[in-house]
Amino acid sequence: MAIATVNPATGETVETFTAYDGDAVEQRLALAESAFRTYRTTGFAERAVLLRRAADVLDAEQEELARTMTVEMGKPVGAARAEVAKCAKAMRWYADRAPGMLADEHPADEDVADSGAGSVYVRYRPVGVVLAVMPWNFPLWQVVRFAAPALMAGNVGLLKHASNVPRTALALERVFRHAGFPPGCFQTLLVGSGAVEDVVRDDRVAAVTLTGSEGAGRSVGAIAGDAIKKSVLELGGSDPFLVLPSADLEGAVKWAVTARTQNNGQSCIAAKRFVVHADVYAAFTSAFADRMRALRVGDPLAEETEIGPLATAQGRTDLEELVDDAVAHGAVVECGGARPKDLPEHLDGGWYYLPTVLSGITPAMRIHREEAFGPVATVYRVESLEEAVAIANDTPFGLSSNVWTTDPEEQERCIRDIEAGGVFFNGMTASHPAFPFGGVKRSGYGRELSAHGIREFCNITTVWRGR
Ligand code: NAP
Repeated sequence: MAIATVNPATGETVETFTAYDGDAVEQRLALAESAFRTYRTTGFAERAVLLRRAADVLDAEQEELARTMTVEMGKPVGAARAEVAKCAKAMRWYADRAPGMLADEHPADEDVADSGAGSVYVRYRPVGVVLAVMPWNFPLWQVVRFAAPALMAGNVGLLKHASNVPRTALALERVFRHAGFPPGCFQTLLVGSGAVEDVVRDDRVAAVTLTGSEGAGRSVGAIAGDAIKKSVLELGGSDPFLVLPSADLEGAVKWAVTARTQNNGQSCIAAKRFVVHADVYAAFTSAFADRMRALRVGDPLAEETEIGPLATAQGRTDLEELVDDAVAHGAVVECGGARPKDLPEHLDGGWYYLPTVLSGITPAMRIHREEAFGPVATVYRVESLEEAVAIANDTPFGLSSNVWTTDPEEQERCIRDIEAGGVFFNGMTASHPAFPFGGVKRSGYGRELSAHGIREFCNITTVWRGR
């Protein structure tokens, strides 16, 4: 894939970039290694000052960064502004909380005595250079949620961003430099995916974190395993959204629309499969389809737009194939199911797709098991909670889940039985710096955010002193 900014709203190539050659990559690896030698000796207070300054840079450059993202990957500009603000918030959160999360840990006195030690404690030390292989869908947030904890822990970062968001990747490098981080603490590698293996295997790289598709995760995870390096994988999802008879139906419909269509439907934690109890199925499905049909599709730079284009032409083709396959196997199109026909002429070359609701889904359809990465929802009718949970779990993925019920017993059964890294009741899945983020099954392993995330790339060191 060429490294280029191509505006998905119009299909126009805005800027192309030359991938770094071997020498350029080598220079950056050497700089990262030397930066780590010094940066690792800084204290939390110094790192926190730098990270807070990076947050200030994000605030100051919010509009420019938001527009850069929108032009590269098509998210509505209002959502892009919110993404920049969320990144600044996460930086400040880690600046405040990392010292507590990585403070020395002292085992119980009786265990210290039992070990024969005079004293014992656990210290969280940095591991070194961490490579981040990142996707385009939240081009700022995905990177910051890795970089903020990594830098607070004393690690340094190398970013291999998706090839369609080079401007955002370079802007991130500038943000950290403008904040005053020493050269080499955070660098962007403008390289294609073919260059990743050598970087992962390089002795100067300690660990790798990848957010992206199952295929990329399988490949990078295998290389990291072979090189005996720690990896964290945040991969795809096909989260269920259960609606049970006690649900506030209006709230469920409203949040179902947001949960499915945020970021033009291209979110790993978007709800993708709507599993609805027979008692409320007809009312839910018709209201859901009505609201999906009413969403304003158009230019993502226009403030009123709710759904922009898909980020790539291939992404739209993949989505169309999933819908066509479902329809060929008997799915019913409740709304959408096609490209919009009435957009202004200047958007003719863009990769738009109408918000779509499909019902009558069966296991014979690809969409039953594959991730629909765009504004396409599938709706299932079930007779019981047991059947709903069985469908929720009938997927290779296990990222998060959403359940609408006010019944405490049903809630406990969902917490016990749904195979996912999150269960969100009467709302929708969203990330927050304080809560661990990640999945089970083929959604990957490891966690980002919270204390769990920052400890993933720490050398958890036992310090023992004799009596
Ligand atoms: P992708 O094609 O896997 O790309 C993600 C990153 O991996 C890009 O930087 C890409 O580089 C690189 N890459 C791709 N194949 C690779 C390989 N074989 N070896 C090394 N690097 C490789 O994913 P995407 O289409 O950009 O993003 C969509 C996917 O990400 C969806 O499945 C979505 O659910 C998932 N996602 C997961 C999370 C989460 O937190 N769990 C969050 C967001 C997205 P190039 O661009 O150069 O190919």
